[in-house]
Amino acid sequence: MSMTECPKCASAQIEQGWILSAGKIAFRSDGLSYPFEGGNVRTYVCLDCGYTESYVVKEYLEKMNSNKK
Ligand SMILES: [Zn+2]
Repeated sequence: MSMTECPKCASAQIEQGWILSAGKIAFRSDGLSYPFEGGNVRTYVCLDCGYTESYVVKEYLEKMNSNKK
């Protein structure tokens, strides 16, 4: 997944990066132990209005999906 157009102002000026705290932001499923290194949530920002949208990376989605089977 990615954000190619701002859902708030319709701008196409989108930059991608990480939201930082002490380290990268990560989502951990209750169903999984700690399988990722660093962040697993990628964030896009609209360069015109500043709106941000975040996605868990595909590799971690696959781990959550395979844990269901
Ligand atoms: Zn915008």
